[in-house]
Amino acid sequence: MTNIILFGPPGSGKGTQATKLAEKYNLIHISTGDLFRYEMGNDTPLGLEAKSFIDKGELVPDSVTIGMLENKMNKHPEANGFILDGFPRTIKQSEALDEIFANKNMAISALLSLDVNKEELVKRLLERGKTSGRADDVDPEIISNRISVYHEQTAPVYNYYDKKDLSKTIDGIGSIEEIFDRLCNAISA
Ligand code: AMP
Repeated sequence: MTNIILFGPPGSGKGTQATKLAEKYNLIHISTGDLFRYEMGNDTPLGLEAKSFIDKGELVPDSVTIGMLENKMNKHPEANGFILDGFPRTIKQSEALDEIFANKNMAISALLSLDVNKEELVKRLLERGKTSGRADDVDPEIISNRISVYHEQTAPVYNYYDKKDLSKTIDGIGSIEEIFDRLCNAISA
């Protein structure tokens, strides 16, 4: 069973690459950002709560996010493995994830971190904002906040898994296919 955490700052290409990896390795792709957007689109209580954080570029509280992720994983007992995109984003989420996996007698195979510089991230997010319909991709101040939040709260997750010898940095600059090949090589290594 292969369980991958696809890691990296907003705009690093996690969603695009996770979709391709899920198809190639027959994994269930879970994007917590997509799950929140689905809830927001349906005006559910969870969506309304999440929106107040997402619109500012802040993280949704762990208590909400962890429960949502676990529910989604529980819907796929048949899974051949998971690819997590946008989760975990805090140390607390990492600890919760380890517990969820341990309870299922499963383990994380690797954390693959897409490395992209800030200038390129901002450029990509503003470009995506022209068509994504995402309020958090349009305003340069919110984009900047999302990148700061990543450095302050999310980057430590890399070290958390590095201590378990699971983290690997992948160059996230290049064509979609080039980056995909790098990720596939890392998974088969
Ligand atoms: P994303 O689509 O991964 O860029 O996520 C969009 C937004 O959803 C983030 O800026 C956060 O506000 C929220 N979000 C997504 N995943 C998480 C998470 N694991 N923890 C907290 N907030 C999250």
